[in-house]
Amino acid sequence: MQQNIRNIAIIAHVDHGKTTLVDAMLKQSGVFRENQAVAERVMDNNDLEKERGITILSKNLSIHRNGLKINVVDTPGHADFGGEVERVLKMVDCVLLLVDAFDGPMPQTRFVLKKSLDLGLKPIVVINKIDRPGSRPEQVVDMVFDLFCELNANEDQLDFPIIYTNAKAGIAKAELNEESADLEPLFSLIQDKVSPPSGNPEAPFQMLVTSIGYNDYLGRIATGKVVNGVVRTGQTIALVKRDGKIEKGRISKLIGYQGVAQVELDDAPAGDIVSIAGFEEVGIGETFADESCPEALPSIAIDEPTLSMN
Ligand code: GDP
Repeated sequence: MQQNIRNIAIIAHVDHGKTTLVDAMLKQSGVFRENQAVAERVMDNNDLEKERGITILSKNLSIHRNGLKINVVDTPGHADFGGEVERVLKMVDCVLLLVDAFDGPMPQTRFVLKKSLDLGLKPIVVINKIDRPGSRPEQVVDMVFDLFCELNANEDQLDFPIIYTNAKAGIAKAELNEESADLEPLFSLIQDKVSPPSGNPEAPFQMLVTSIGYNDYLGRIATGKVVNGVVRTGQTIALVKRDGKIEKGRISKLIGYQGVAQVELDDAPAGDIVSIAGFEEVGIGETFADESCPEALPSIAIDEPTLSMN
């Protein structure tokens, strides 16, 4: 159900603890990353990632917790290749900005943060490694605030929710002096502060293709967010090409995420992030739509690679 979906991205400087936090979130929702069959991951081709404009969203995952499905989309660390950052951010309703409580915010994350703020996303600030000797969480919050000001954040964005974590121990706290034994405060914050995805579940199906992957068995796989309606495996749908041409085809497989594994789905509602196989000609920025109502969604420009603002 759309109301139970939260789509987020995590922005973090390398080593600030993104992997550790996501692992802890997965673990506390009953998933052990190491137990997942890597072979199930359909999009795993690094060479393709280097192709201009093509991203493999193999690191997308979803966390099921308290009846909520949290889709975590993978964001490129810093540089922006061909509008990639923007495309990813357009799928989410919130970014978690994860900052080391000792190091503070790093310049390399400025680019993605700036893009998020420009797109109107209101970040949740996660101050991690609060157990680290010499950590200075309160000061780091002030540094984040100053950075937001510098990046022209609006009032609402400056009023960001803050959560303190020791990702290594799997602990989150809303207040520094609070006692906590798990990440529940973080899960609650995501549930309360991140809006469920917008989109009309009753409207004809539409999905914007955000990335393309490739798999030996399934061929080309298109990933994106279901913007309106519902999509079903086996369904015949229209692909609206960038030049306006329409191609009809059948969804051979609908793929979703369960933890870090990719699983076959029967259907997916508006707001969910899924992958579709069965279309060999599909490209980024194109729209999958109901065959009786093949209308394109506003596409996101695939621009030339931009330099990061380091
Ligand atoms: P990533 O590059 O952002 O994915 O960072 P990792 O998750 O790989 O973490 C980098 C290092 O920081 C690892 O050695 C982690 O064990 C450590 N780390 C992560 N979170 C914490 C934390 O909350 N406290 C401490 N002390 N170490 C942490």
